[in-house]
Amino acid sequence: MKIIDIIESKPITLSFEVFPPKTEDRYESVAQAIAALSFLSPDYMSVTYGAGGGTSKNTVRIATDIEKLHHTTALAHLTCLSSTKQDIRSILGELSDNGIHNILALRGDQPSPDSGAPVPHDYRYAVELVGDIRAFGDFCIGAACHPEGHPDRVDREEEIIHLREKVDRGVDFLVTQFFFDNGKFYEFVDRVRGAGIKVPLIVGVMPVSSAKSLQRMIAISGTSVTPRMQALLDRWGDDPDSMEQAGILHASEQILDLVSNGFGGIHIYTMNKPRIAGAIKDNIGFLLG
Ligand SMILES: Cc1cc2nc3c(=O)[nH]c(=O)nc-3n(C[C@H](O)[C@H](O)[C@H](O)COP(=O)(O)OP(=O)(O)OC[C@H]3O[C@@H](n4cnc5c(N)ncnc54)[C@H](O)[C@@H]3O)c2cc1C
Repeated sequence: MKIIDIIESKPITLSFEVFPPKTEDRYESVAQAIAALSFLSPDYMSVTYGAGGGTSKNTVRIATDIEKLHHTTALAHLTCLSSTKQDIRSILGELSDNGIHNILALRGDQPSPDSGAPVPHDYRYAVELVGDIRAFGDFCIGAACHPEGHPDRVDREEEIIHLREKVDRGVDFLVTQFFFDNGKFYEFVDRVRGAGIKVPLIVGVMPVSSAKSLQRMIAISGTSVTPRMQALLDRWGDDPDSMEQAGILHASEQILDLVSNGFGGIHIYTMNKPRIAGAIKDNIGFLLG
C-alpha cells in the first residue's frame, strides 16, 4: 500500500523507523526486534539505508520481510550521494521486484575523507534522486526536512526554496529530522506552508535512551538540546534505566502536544527497541482512537 493513502485515510498515524544489521551475524537479532515492533501494529515501518556493502542490501531484505512476513507497509530509505545512477537503477529494480512501493529519498551524509568510501559525483542533492525515482516507476516518495536547519545550511530562506524544489520534483510527504522543541517545529511549519509546500509533514520523534548516542546524533543532525532535555541528561544520563523512562515520557509528552496542535503523523525513531516503542504506544494509544 502507498503511504500517502494511509496518511490521507487517517487523522493520526503511528509509524516506526528501524535500522538494518551492519553485519550478517546480527541479522537474526535485528529480525527479532523488527518482528516485535511489527507486533505493535504500526501503520508502516521505515528501514534506514547505509550506503555501500551489505548494509544497503539488508535494507531491501528487511523491507521485504516487513511487507511479506509481517504484513506491514514498508518504507525503504535510499541515499544517493555515494551511488552511481546505475546503482540507483538497480536498487529501484530490486525494490520494485520485491513489492516495495514506498521510498524515502535522501541525499546521505558526506563520507569522511579517511573512510575510503567512493563519491561518484552522479548525485549532489536528494532532489536529483527524487526525479530519478519518479522517472523510474510508480513509487510513493517521501523526503527529509530539517525543522532546525540542515547542518550544511547557508541560509534559512534558501533551505525552504530547496525544499520546495525537492517537493515539486515529485515528493508525496515529508519526514522531519528529530527535534525536542515543538515551538521551533511550529515556526518551521509556518515557513513551509508560507512557501506553498502543501504535502503532509510526518514528525520524527526520538525517545532518548542514552546520553552518549544522543551526542553522536546531535553532531550530525543539527538538532539543539532544550534546557528541559539537558536537565534530564544531567540528572539521569549515567543511569540507563532511568534515562530510558525519562526519554519515553519526554517523547510521549512531545507527541501529545503535537497531536493536540493538529499534527497526526508520528514517526518514532525506535533504535530497534520494541520495549521503548511499546511503552510510548501504551502512553499515547488513546490518541490513536
Ligand atoms: C527522516 C530522515 C531519515 C534519514 N535516513 C537516513 C538513512 O537512512 N541513511 C542515511 O545515510 N542518512 C539518513 N538521513 C540523514 C540524511 O541523509 C542527511 O541529513 C543528509 O545530510 C541530508 O539529506 P537530505 O535528503 O535532507 O538532503 P538534501 O535535500 O539534498 O539537502 C541537503 C542540504 O543541501 C541543501 N540543498 C538542497 N538542494 C540544493 C541545491 N540545489 N543547491 C544548494 N543546496 C541545496 C539543502 O538546503 C540542505 O541544506 C535521514 C535524515 C532524515 C531527516
